[in-house]
Amino acid sequence: QAKQAGRNTWRFYDPAMQAVAVRRAMLESELRQAVPRNQLRLYYQVQVDRRGRVTGVEALLRWQHPGYGMVPPYDFISIAEESYLIVPIGEWVMETACRQLAAWAAEPYTEGLSMAVNISPLQFQQPEFVGRLETILAATGARPERLKLEITESLFMEEPDAVRDTMLRIKALGVRFSLDDFGTGYSSLSYLNRLPLDQLKIDQSFVRTLFEDNANAVICASVIDLGRNLGLEVIAEGVETEEHRDWLENKGCHAYQGYLFGRPLPLGELEPLLRESACIAGR
Ligand code: C2E
Ligand code: MG
Ligand code: MG
Ligand code: MG
Repeated sequence: QAKQAGRNTWRFYDPAMQAVAVRRAMLESELRQAVPRNQLRLYYQVQVDRRGRVTGVEALLRWQHPGYGMVPPYDFISIAEESYLIVPIGEWVMETACRQLAAWAAEPYTEGLSMAVNISPLQFQQPEFVGRLETILAATGARPERLKLEITESLFMEEPDAVRDTMLRIKALGVRFSLDDFGTGYSSLSYLNRLPLDQLKIDQSFVRTLFEDNANAVICASVIDLGRNLGLEVIAEGVETEEHRDWLENKGCHAYQGYLFGRPLPLGELEPLLRESACIAGR
């Protein structure tokens, strides 16, 4: 009987979907081991100001898998979120990023550099999040003012007031906030003013098609205006050409991140770039 039902059920299964489900389950069990087996890595992508000086980096997570090689976040962040593994993984990211930030503060050529860290909504909503953040800041000696948490609009979907309260507590530590992928979510604009934000980050989907799609050019210009009028710094992500940078600069954009200035790099490849940039800036 059960076998019969099972067989009937199977008829509605798409073998391709079955394969996806098996692959996901496998990845999840392997991801569970990623922190203890020391398979996570941080790559760093530079952020520059209008004069081209490197003012900060964004930490971007990679999974160095023994069989698949370097796995990009798009292939495992959603699995990490569904399984809550994003909580220990996010904590590893925070600790690693803060330790690096503290190390850079001691070097003249990286002094003053800020570090942006992506925070998943699930991680942010953990009751212990603020406490863990404080502990990590104290343990690593990282300056809170140099740390920037990148959150997304999806965080404000469920309990915006509770999120705002948590943000205020984090803000009180001196840590700053950037609203990542801005324009792709559904947040209400009235919120922007009530949240302790420091930066708006224009999503790369608008930036990269600036010249092909007039609607996206209008969106970029409007976000820059909006941010400036609210007293927020505006950074554009996905800046790949000089033409894009110049257009954005002309509209008043404050900062830029993208392949034009550098890809996400492992520490060893990033540091020469930072040294060179510091030389140019006369630091
Ligand atoms: P994001 O935070 O919006 O990061 C920007 C993504 O755009 C990065 O992809 C970066 O490599 C890519 N990018 C930067 N400049 C350019 C460019 O000029 N052209 C193009 N085509 N792409 C560019 P990446 O590293 O694959 O990360 C993807 C997403 O994964 C991130 O998007 C972020 O949402 C998430 N992520 C990365 N690291 C973490 C993490 O530590 N924790 C959490 N929760 N999410 C993370
Ligand atoms: Mg980001
Ligand atoms: Mg982004
Ligand atoms: Mg993005």
